[in-house]
Amino acid sequence: MTASATGKNKQVVTRFAPSPTGFLHIGGARTALFNWLFARHHGGKFLLRVEDTDRARSTEEAVAAIFDGLEWLGLGGDEPAVFQFERTPRHAEVANQLLAAGHAYKCFATPEELAELREQQRAAKQPMRYDGRWRDRDPAEAPAGTPYVIRIKAPREGETVIEDAVQGRVVVQNAELDDMILLRSDGTPTYMLAVVVDDHDMGVTHVIRGDDHLNNAFRQLAIIKAMGWEEPVYAHIPLIHGSDGAKLSKRHGALGVDAYRDDMGMLPEAVLNYLLRLGWGHGDEEIIPIDRAIELFDIAGVGRSPSRFDIKKLENLNGHYLREADDARLAALVAPRLESRLDTQLNDRQRDILAQAMASLKPRAKTLNEIAEGAEFLFKSCPLDFDEKASALLDEPARALLIKTADALQSVPSWTVEAIEDVIRRVAEDAGLGLGKVAQPLRAALTGRTVSPGIFDVLFLLGKEESLERLTAAGHAAAG
Ligand code: GLU
Repeated sequence: MTASATGKNKQVVTRFAPSPTGFLHIGGARTALFNWLFARHHGGKFLLRVEDTDRARSTEEAVAAIFDGLEWLGLGGDEPAVFQFERTPRHAEVANQLLAAGHAYKCFATPEELAELREQQRAAKQPMRYDGRWRDRDPAEAPAGTPYVIRIKAPREGETVIEDAVQGRVVVQNAELDDMILLRSDGTPTYMLAVVVDDHDMGVTHVIRGDDHLNNAFRQLAIIKAMGWEEPVYAHIPLIHGSDGAKLSKRHGALGVDAYRDDMGMLPEAVLNYLLRLGWGHGDEEIIPIDRAIELFDIAGVGRSPSRFDIKKLENLNGHYLREADDARLAALVAPRLESRLDTQLNDRQRDILAQAMASLKPRAKTLNEIAEGAEFLFKSCPLDFDEKASALLDEPARALLIKTADALQSVPSWTVEAIEDVIRRVAEDAGLGLGKVAQPLRAALTGRTVSPGIFDVLFLLGKEESLERLTAAGHAAAG
């Protein structure tokens, strides 16, 4: 076979073909990513096709949610998306072409007849499939005006082989494949026909999708062969499983991509890195930013066994990418979360403080929500609510220490982290306490909690006035 006959010299074209019956779930996003990466790696094209032929179940909201999710992840198509339903006439055209060429035939079997056939097969414990009763019959035998469907004349002997790039060689006996319907009696194409025609017309060279479509591939190949079209390379990737090994469902966190973005506060680069590692590997490299992924990705690295979804791993990766992320960008992402926690709008000055605080907030957070939670103390008004642990720290001696610290800070020459540190160290020394012992009640008084960024940063970020107010208020508060 020549190189061009195997498609090796052609430009790679991949596609992601979601059915818009729900949001972009995590499994779909991974399929999109693998297609996108494969195309990028080979300098090819990545296309989108909305499989909206199921009119009852397809919705505009779902289309919008899918595009939105893809855009957030940076996985947009290289050309405007194709909408499958709009191509119905073209699908019908191909069915009629197959009919004219003798690769398909009209079947006039009535629904009652087919129900009876199924009943007989069920009783005889045979696989239920159409028996080809109109395959060789003259259509003229059907009474005039009888509705008909167009069925493919599938090969009955021999076998169909797929050299799947992930699954390896998969063989099906042709006797097991029946003459499936291409065009229904109302003239609408079946899904199987639509997929094949669209893939062909879009020039798709590599079909990378979930292995729940492997069985379909054999049926789709029958159409491709009948049309004499070039076969794409198939790569059926194992589905994602939950942490318990069962097929991924909502209960495992198989949510829409928007939930990872909005509810959980993940960064797109973290979700991409996680999805990449879910089923594909390069040694034991865990952190693989997208440029490196483009460089390394190939189908050969996709494993054959299902990978397990692990939210902890995703969170850890997210923590990594938060630490890497630009502070101004993070502040912009955190601000709305913080505003809804505080139930108030941040002003420009507060937004500046938030951006400044990012360097000390992000090292300890795994999600944007955690950063927002950690930032809350900056914008609370005095007197603070103390959580239980913080209250417990604010006993009599601690409160005396707060007043001393407030006095000492009063005369700090300039409100810098270094100057603040000098003062606090001096207070600790004078009190004969370790720095940690002083920092604890200070933290409680300044943030209302026992966990926060470093104490000098906390003081610096709050500013002199606010810091002194909080220290004095906690210092003078009646013991709780
Ligand atoms: N529309 C199908 C799905 O969402 C994908 C079909 C394909 O990739 O061939 O599962």
